[in-house]
Amino acid sequence: MTTWATLADLNKTEPCKDYGAVLDTLEADYNSTENLPCWQTEAVPVDEVDRYQIIDDPDDEDGRQKVELLREALRRSAPLPPIVVVHGPTSERGTYDLLDGRHRFNAAHEERLSSLSAWVAHIGCCDGPSPDPAST
Ligand SMILES: [Zn+2]
Repeated sequence: MTTWATLADLNKTEPCKDYGAVLDTLEADYNSTENLPCWQTEAVPVDEVDRYQIIDDPDDEDGRQKVELLREALRRSAPLPPIVVVHGPTSERGTYDLLDGRHRFNAAHEERLSSLSAWVAHIGCCDGPSPDPAST
């Protein structure tokens, strides 16, 4: 039997620094709230995270710097907070839509890690619940 967490539960365990932004996206794009028990902590394949989120702008110096620092942290095997993703149908972009952790994802991608710790929402897939009716 799978036990599902809500995003509010997970955020209590390990506060997400962009929690407000994550909630906004969850509501706008997934018709879901922090109270929908659809979350699992998983190791997700880096190759399957939204490829459109790969930073390829050489002028994004701020972003580059963050990614470099995170790559160093990964090389030291320092623990990083989980990225936040939504599982969905496979597309050319990948299987996981990225809600938070773009720089962590890019660092893992550049370090060629195979997987990354993540909070994964299964909204109406993998036996996860349907979108939160209270939010409609
Ligand atoms: Zn799923």
